[in-house]
Amino acid sequence: MRRKLAAGNWKMNGTAASLDEVRAVAEAHPAPSVDLLLCPPATLIDRMVRAAAGSAIAVGGQDCHAAAAGAHTGDISAAMLTDAGATHVILGHSERRTDHGETDDTVRAKAQAALAEGLVAVVCLGETEAQRDAGETLPVVGRQLAGSLPDAGVTGATLVVAYEPVWAIGTGRVPTLDQIAEVHDVMRAELVGRFGDAGEAIRLLYGGSVKPDNAGEIFATSNVDGALVGGASLAATDFSAVIAALEAAPAA
Ligand code: PEP
Repeated sequence: MRRKLAAGNWKMNGTAASLDEVRAVAEAHPAPSVDLLLCPPATLIDRMVRAAAGSAIAVGGQDCHAAAAGAHTGDISAAMLTDAGATHVILGHSERRTDHGETDDTVRAKAQAALAEGLVAVVCLGETEAQRDAGETLPVVGRQLAGSLPDAGVTGATLVVAYEPVWAIGTGRVPTLDQIAEVHDVMRAELVGRFGDAGEAIRLLYGGSVKPDNAGEIFATSNVDGALVGGASLAATDFSAVIAALEAAPAA
């Protein structure tokens, strides 16, 4: 059985004052029945780890470089994330793919580096609106899935995949439940085909405008093991409601 995961991506939001939200989530969920993860900007990782100490909240980065160290101004290595107390890292978010030209190859190399450092890689993928309108969603997602994941070291404990349609991120628009199920079922079949039992154990998150009022139905959808939440993870009340909906969802 896959343990569900509620993950928050703060993107380029948050300063020291925002850590009150983390403390509030921790207080509201002292012993959750699902895994909790918050990924703040790099500047807050160390402080969030300390704010969340003793709680069920794991802390992750939003990106890492594929190299261990070197002349890469502005970048952060996987070892630096673990040094700061992070246990997870989001990789291949569509904003990284768009803003920084990251390809499936880039994401795979970063995921390899993350796994080698003992981080759980949360690999993101998803189609653009033009690709969906052209009927290319499944081939696009299939290509990204095949190209963005490492061959070695992949288990249910080391890798999470987040399906995030680009057109649903931050827009308030969400695919139909049938559309989400179609993509998640295909991803599951492809992961099992490639990784066997490990493919069955990998958690599949949905991401894209998940809010307290739509989380329940999304979490009841086939092969949805949780969510990667952007905007609604910034305020404790919203993220808490999403967590509660995930705890109430049927078992995988
Ligand atoms: C995201 O950026 O990963 C995301 C899902 O954002 P939002 O929930 O705001 O759509």
